Amino acid sequence: MSYDNDNIFAKIMRGEVPCEKLYEDDNTFVFMDIMPRADGHCLVIPKTPCRNILDASPAQMNACMATVQKMARAVMKAFDAEGVTLQQFSEAAGGQEVFHLHFHVLPRREGVKLRPPGSMEDFGVLKANADKIRAVLAEV
Ligand code: 5GP
Repeated sequence: MSYDNDNIFAKIMRGEVPCEKLYEDDNTFVFMDIMPRADGHCLVIPKTPCRNILDASPAQMNACMATVQKMARAVMKAFDAEGVTLQQFSEAAGGQEVFHLHFHVLPRREGVKLRPPGSMEDFGVLKANADKIRAVLAEV
């Protein structure tokens, strides 16, 4: 399986498709999931190409994990959450739909179920939730 340079996340990083960007460093990029399963659901991706954890290098994995931890702390704070769920799907049989490695970070509260996948969020709500996360990033 090869990497497709025209996958939607590659286009987002190139600025060809808009996104609610939350954070970036030399190796990773973070933005809001457009169909969030919880308020604050965001995606951490490496800046360099790889499909998923099956072809990622240790350096790509390490960089993503450091940013996942940062974003987990940020969404906890931004949404007064009680826990965090991470999701990662590799290859279609594993549930992957976009073939650029990504980690889902979802703030959770006791008794609140994840919403079903596939519902597009209102862009105003997405921006308001992104603002909450951006506001706490410097503190985590
Ligand atoms: P997965 O590949 O792990 O199954 O999920 C891909 C995720 O990317 C989904 O949660 C979906 O909502 C999100 N997604 C798909 N297309 C876009 C897009 O154009 N922009 C953003 N921000 N998220 C997207």
